[in-house]
Amino acid sequence: MIEKRQFYINGKWVNAKEGRDHQVIDPSTEEPCAVISLGGQADTDAAVAAAKAALPGWMATLPAERIALLEKLAGIYKARSVEMAQAISLEMGAPIDLAQTAQWGAGYGHLKNFIRAAKGFEFNRRLGEHAPNDRILYEAVGVAGLITPWNWPMNQVMLKLGAAIVAGCTMVLKPSEESPLSAILLAEMMDEAGFPPGVFNLINGDGAGVGTQLSAHEDVDMISFTGSTRAGIAISKTAADTLKKVHLELGGKGANLIFADADEKAVKRGVIHVMNNSGQSCNAPTRMMVEASAYEKAVETAANVAKSLRVGPASEEGRHIGPVVNESQWNKIQALIQKGIDEGARLVAGGTGRPEGLSRGFFVKPTVFADVTNEMTIGHEEIFGPVLSIMKFETENDAVRMANDTVYGLTNYVQTEDSARRNRLAQKLRSGMVEMNGQNLGAGAPFGGMKRSGNGREGGVWGIEDFCEIKAVSGWTDA
Ligand code: NAD
Repeated sequence: MIEKRQFYINGKWVNAKEGRDHQVIDPSTEEPCAVISLGGQADTDAAVAAAKAALPGWMATLPAERIALLEKLAGIYKARSVEMAQAISLEMGAPIDLAQTAQWGAGYGHLKNFIRAAKGFEFNRRLGEHAPNDRILYEAVGVAGLITPWNWPMNQVMLKLGAAIVAGCTMVLKPSEESPLSAILLAEMMDEAGFPPGVFNLINGDGAGVGTQLSAHEDVDMISFTGSTRAGIAISKTAADTLKKVHLELGGKGANLIFADADEKAVKRGVIHVMNNSGQSCNAPTRMMVEASAYEKAVETAANVAKSLRVGPASEEGRHIGPVVNESQWNKIQALIQKGIDEGARLVAGGTGRPEGLSRGFFVKPTVFADVTNEMTIGHEEIFGPVLSIMKFETENDAVRMANDTVYGLTNYVQTEDSARRNRLAQKLRSGMVEMNGQNLGAGAPFGGMKRSGNGREGGVWGIEDFCEIKAVSGWTDA
């Protein structure tokens, strides 16, 4: 079994001061695969103190120095891609091919995008011609606490770490206790890249322990959090006493509006998008809303696509769906599928229980419900599993109303050949992102939500700005 009990604090691997053992479970086998330490207050204090001590020196470095270190990190991250993919696959169950491509690649892509954005980032901006001696300075927020989930572990860590480095923040990372192995490996890479001691610190812990301690800490200036809306609310409350900046990337219940004139692959694309990563993506288009005249055909196609998907262990090569992350997620998903049946949704693929031939591991049948409404539990709760809900709409206005009728607002999707309608809908949908006709957002586009999907923007220029304070200065003279 892998043993990784140490934390990375002030440029050194150190033993936990108040550690207690925590087993990481391989979701494909339900067997422990690693043991880590969950830290306590003394560990949090040590990591924050290191970040605080390193801040003045790090903030004063030139952006070019920080970019050079990020470039070094990107090189190491690329060279150790196989190890990273294996760690991700083992800890959270992404099939190894997905771990090697999208999971590892998301982290790498963000690093490259931050390097590009940083090269053009103006840390010193003019207010305008009317005030020639005014400057708007962008400077580091300070010590940042980074709290991340397990579903796309390196994607989420890099979105925070890359921006914090460029902005000149020092940081303490607390990855999810479900997915600590990839973050520990990343800490090794930060060490190898030669970041000054204290700039980056890693401690493992759970939400009630280290997560809460970071959120409450006097010397943490900002929490950047990705995870559930439940934890985002708890963190906001805990952080309120110190009025620290709280950046939140939370859950979602994305709508995918499919009009009768959509391209013929739209339904299949939507199903695959939901099922990818076993449905564990905050931006998954889990509410497929289809125009009435195309509805029955879409239901049939979606059911067939779901039935054709293979489910299997993460270590197996090829395109298939792995397990969900842990037993409590598995139980939650099973209960929600049952609730869908009980509340009258029409089950057209999948259902409760494990897929045939799999008696161990947190595997879920790719499941599709038709005739769902927003009022049903599966129509409004985030399931975070391979479960799609299909709904019918009559008019464009109905579609907008149904799509916006949710507490979430992360990503919505539109499929139609009518370009005027696409532009109209892009403006009417209340979400931080709208993706249309299967086109992904471009590199460096800001990722984030509205309403209970959070308030932060991650990636590219906007991501860097979120880790900056804005300082207005008069009487500035250019050297
Ligand atoms: P989670 O909220 O349970 O845990 C996320 C992280 O927060 C973990 O590191 C956990 O230890 C920590 N945590 C939990 N409770 C805490 C507390 N009270 N105080 C401080 N820290 C706490 O979420 P999860 O189950 O790991 O991840 C799944 C959720 O993340 C889903 O809801 C998903 O939609 C969301 N998510 C959002 C985005 C986004 O960018 N919007 C991206 C990925 C995942």
